Amino acid sequence: MSDWQKVLHESIDTLDKLAGKFGPDVIDVDGLQPAFDNFQMRITQNSLDTIKEVGDPMWQQYVPTTQELDIVDGVIDSLDEDGDSPVPNITHRYPDRVLFLVSPVCATYCRFCTRRRKVGDPEKIPLNQYESALQYIRDHTEVRDVIMSGGDPMMLSDRRLEYLFQRLREIPHVEIIRLGSRITSHLPSRITPEFCEMVKKYHPVYMNTHFNHPAELTPETVAALGRLADAGVPLGCQTVLLRGVNDDPAVMKELMQKLMKARVRPYYIYMADQVAGGEHFRTTVEKGLEIVKALRGWTSGLAVPHFVIDAPGGGGKVPLLPEYVEEINEDEVIFRNYAGDRYVYKQPKQPAISVSACGDAAAAESDIVPIQVAKKPRKTAAKSGGKTVARKRRTGT
Ligand code: SF4
Repeated sequence: MSDWQKVLHESIDTLDKLAGKFGPDVIDVDGLQPAFDNFQMRITQNSLDTIKEVGDPMWQQYVPTTQELDIVDGVIDSLDEDGDSPVPNITHRYPDRVLFLVSPVCATYCRFCTRRRKVGDPEKIPLNQYESALQYIRDHTEVRDVIMSGGDPMMLSDRRLEYLFQRLREIPHVEIIRLGSRITSHLPSRITPEFCEMVKKYHPVYMNTHFNHPAELTPETVAALGRLADAGVPLGCQTVLLRGVNDDPAVMKELMQKLMKARVRPYYIYMADQVAGGEHFRTTVEKGLEIVKALRGWTSGLAVPHFVIDAPGGGGKVPLLPEYVEEINEDEVIFRNYAGDRYVYKQPKQPAISVSACGDAAAAESDIVPIQVAKKPRKTAAKSGGKTVARKRRTGT
């Protein structure tokens, strides 16, 4: 058994073990049994070490609660992934990429998991049905990007992962392989030197990690991310906006800055899905917009992910942006910057368009208004809530 498998083996995976760790006065084994029966629990030692006190953000992500049984609006397959599944283990929703479910298990199970209907159940993500999935990808020449997910693909052995990489690399139109994995947070020892050597043979292989709170970036985790980056694996991060975990601009800013230091590019912040069993984690869209506004301009643009709702029922990811533009007319655009100051951008003067006798639209040379280039840029001003702000030229990103 390898080191990471030993760590996994020693995880807390029963309510009795959980009560042994935190005490029977904290863990009501009988009361939590229905939530446990609905969605299994496993917490690795790495995840356990991040819990500093009962009820803290890390506790909430991993410890079952009876709130999981309060179903209001939640549905089992909230993104209708099964509706876009032409063959087992494949979801084909977007034009040029597919989701390929390759593993039914995770190192630690997150209580908010969108895919909880499948995760933890080997029958629902069958490992013996790779062939029809691979055949589907082979037959669909428009697929240039394959996202291996699950469960967590990094729970597979190197041998099985390499088999899948090899099979995908035999398909000429597959340009990019992506791994969607939370393993660097839950079981960093899984990122072995052997895996890092092996993955180099199949580049470009990207990894989309998943971090929700700065406490997850422990020294072990940061070292594992470093091994992946050194192996040439570009790293992104998907974060889920969760009530009581990270619904706070300061927490999100710290998370994004720590990710950047660990060579991970923040990619998405998702609104929590309307999944049955995870409704108590949901917060408002306004809270998400407040967080994005508190990031944009106040920290490096590289540290500002896209804020999206994965549209219920299978509509795909829809980006949401705070409102910066106040008015657009044919002469100018009036907007506010990150600090709330007001600016005006002049619209370009469009050349007039004439229509030729045969019906083609063409710019008539005589109608083009020559552009006057001023020798010195004229300093103009825009009002900002009583304050006048000189318009500045952008000098960089
Ligand atoms: S690691 Fe991902 S797939 Fe696994 S339980 Fe957590 S959110 Fe779900």
